[in-house]
Amino acid sequence: SNNNKTILLTGCAGFIGSNFIPYFLEKYPDYNLINLDLLTYAGNLENLEECEENPRYKFIKGDICNRELVEFIFSEYDIQGVIHFAAESHVDNSIKNPGVFVETNVNGTFTLLDVAYKYWMEKPFTYKEKYNKCRFHHISTDEVYGTLSDDPNDLFTEETPYSPNSPYSASKASSDMFVRSYQETYGLNTVITNCSNNYGPKQHDEKLIPTIIRKALANEPIPIYGDGKNIRDWLYVLDHCKGIDLVYHTGKEANVYNIGGRNERTNLQIVDRICSILDEKVPQANGKSYKELITFVEDRAGHDRRYAIDATKLENELGWKADENFDTGIVKTVRWYLKQYNI
Ligand code: NAD
Repeated sequence: SNNNKTILLTGCAGFIGSNFIPYFLEKYPDYNLINLDLLTYAGNLENLEECEENPRYKFIKGDICNRELVEFIFSEYDIQGVIHFAAESHVDNSIKNPGVFVETNVNGTFTLLDVAYKYWMEKPFTYKEKYNKCRFHHISTDEVYGTLSDDPNDLFTEETPYSPNSPYSASKASSDMFVRSYQETYGLNTVITNCSNNYGPKQHDEKLIPTIIRKALANEPIPIYGDGKNIRDWLYVLDHCKGIDLVYHTGKEANVYNIGGRNERTNLQIVDRICSILDEKVPQANGKSYKELITFVEDRAGHDRRYAIDATKLENELGWKADENFDTGIVKTVRWYLKQYNI
């Protein structure tokens, strides 16, 4: 209906956004969703096939840095909320080609903030009721905090100082700061979520878990950086989506929330677990374990040793809790990828 509220989502042909849109469309029957995505190498519309027929979903191919286009979308569709996923997201690419990370992650975020601010807040007073609740939700990463010691009590909180080490995390940290500045300087209603490593269906081939599965099934060496002991805190993508939903609707204005599943694993533990699942589901004819394919390769430059999130604020203030633990989530995930290979 015409009373529907229209929300602009960016970058949802990618991994997390394409899990978020079907979930959000179903949960909020009075929202219209617009997905603005440039379809870089990381975007794939097949991820959203299930939404194509939905009249409340619209895809627009375009760049978040294109100010005229973003302004057009705001006024044409009377945008009343933004959830901003679009980014260059792969650390290895940021080491080889940092420029595009500054362009999309910093300039793109700035463009969206500035257009949102001007559209929502430079309205005559009579519009205040309608627009003063409009929210800008910025999706960010725990990588902005840098790296942790091996002490299990050492965790990232919302107060941890920023200390980004890769061009990727530096560009995300910078975008977070611009969001903050639009809140503090102009009073734009913003929230930021900083999430740990996601895993689940629809992740791009270049990332760790899809790479492990692809290489194993092709009987090729499974590359693991350095000694394989780098620790990440893994969260099932739908649990991230539920956290975003909660913060978008009930988070306090001007606040930052960390999202993480308290599921720390070394890369070696991840690859071992996946190989065990594959050994069971698609045993090799020669009876060997896929683990024999694991090959250590030269470490990533500036590779952070450990990330781990303290999600107490989100748990206590907003009642969030991950539904999936790593052992159940990873089985679901492997099953989904096997289906893509018609296995
Ligand atoms: P992704 O790389 O899978 O998807 C990014 C999407 O953004 C793609 O569809 C791409 O086409 C689009 N895009 C890129 N540049 C664009 C531009 N200039 N204009 C419009 N669209 C553009 O990324 P993802 O893993 O889904 O991550 C989404 C967001 O979540 C990112 O902001 C990322 O920093 C953040 N994040 C990711 C993780 C993770 O583990 N994947 C963890 C924490 C935070």
